[in-house]
Amino acid sequence: MTSQISHTQKSIIQFEIGYTQFLDPMGKIVQNLPEFTRDSEHLKILYRFLVRTRVFDTKAIALQRTGKLGTYPSTLGQEAIGVGIGSAMQSNDVLCPYYREYGAQFWRGVKMSEILLYWGGDERGSDFSDPRVKEDFPLCVPIGSQTLHAVGVATALKLRKQARVTVTTVGDGGTSRGDFYEAVNLAGAWQLPIVFVINNNQWAISLPRAKQTHAETLAQKGIAGGIFSEQVDGNDIIAVRYAVEEAIKRARSGLGPSVIEALSYRMSDHTTADDARRYRDAAEIEKYKALDPIKRFYQYLVDQNIWDKTKEEALQESVTKEVADAVYEYEHTSPLEPTAMFDFLYAKLPDALHREREEAAQLQRITTRD
Ligand SMILES: [Mg+2]
Repeated sequence: MTSQISHTQKSIIQFEIGYTQFLDPMGKIVQNLPEFTRDSEHLKILYRFLVRTRVFDTKAIALQRTGKLGTYPSTLGQEAIGVGIGSAMQSNDVLCPYYREYGAQFWRGVKMSEILLYWGGDERGSDFSDPRVKEDFPLCVPIGSQTLHAVGVATALKLRKQARVTVTTVGDGGTSRGDFYEAVNLAGAWQLPIVFVINNNQWAISLPRAKQTHAETLAQKGIAGGIFSEQVDGNDIIAVRYAVEEAIKRARSGLGPSVIEALSYRMSDHTTADDARRYRDAAEIEKYKALDPIKRFYQYLVDQNIWDKTKEEALQESVTKEVADAVYEYEHTSPLEPTAMFDFLYAKLPDALHREREEAAQLQRITTRD
């Protein structure tokens, strides 16, 4: 029954969510650019990593379609989020990613062949060989749990009084999970050195953003945890890099955590096991193609006389070779024994799994990649 008693209220506190963009979808500058954009060589490296990520992504899908890779989640259209994160982090920071931020992983030193090994079902895809990424976490497929792992890491960094920061990524759907809310709450309560980056690609498998939550932004979920929270144009590499770098600086200097919602769009199916044509209007994809992060940055670089067609051709050729070399390395990695699936989950294998491991030991080597 609705109360009929009239009453007055006063506003206790108000919040707002800012939005940052430097380049519009045509690659035109919309506000003063950050300092790092004065270094044209750095901009070329950013562009190279965007292209590397896309060429890798295209090849990975082709490998899955030809039976040479397991289920693979594409990052098509969201490359600026990963590359923006990777380029903003320092080497000794810790990345706890979900499963679409290959650009961040490549930047930090994860090999393309290792990502292929992971999706090929090989445990070595989670054991990065480059010493710079030895403390980064592997891909996390369970939705949202990586945000709690990241809070654990950030707690350890704080207890050890190390000037290091944890960056974790999560999808729009992941922000509806209890894990995310708990992670945000603890990060705020303990003022941890952590940055949450939400890859809002508008879809959680077949569930559109509008049905995911009634909240107007996903960033505002951080406000409840007392965390600085904002939105950026996730298809603008300059905006992502700038916002993540600023958030990392705050965290490193003891000013606490941040939540950054990067607005983008999943131009692919959810994974290669999905067919988005069953639930998504094709016209919607066409609309978002105009917001492509790589085309936008390409146009900006051309307008600044930093880039041209000749350089582009050379880059495409070089990156295509790099990806082909990674595929060769993946395809020529000898398979592990079947027992490997038991050997890296537990420090001490539970009794119940001992018999299964023994059975696996009897099997011949899996040779599906040969
Ligand atoms: Mg999503």
